Amino acid sequence: MAYTWEPRWEPYTVNVNGIIIKTCRDKVTGMIACPICINAVEKCLGGEAISGYKYEYSFFFTDEDLIKHIRDYHGGRIMFKKYHSGRRRGRRHGK
Ligand SMILES: [Zn+2]
Repeated sequence: MAYTWEPRWEPYTVNVNGIIIKTCRDKVTGMIACPICINAVEKCLGGEAISGYKYEYSFFFTDEDLIKHIRDYHGGRIMFKKYHSGRRRGRRHGK
């Protein structure tokens, strides 16, 4: 699928039922990108590019759709660990 617009990413925080995910949102369309598919850390969260990263372009209209995609497509908790590990909050949730 070809996307003809140039996304203009801005940091965006998804918060659904206590699940918080930092990702990027396109300013133009307002669509939320999957942080794993586009490597949000690099695109808008100030991180470095990962060489050899296999980018995919997945966009969603609602927070819920993104959560569902991550659960179905990426297996959920893998990313929560990864993206929370850099935060300074000491709170641990679950195991
Ligand atoms: Zn994804």
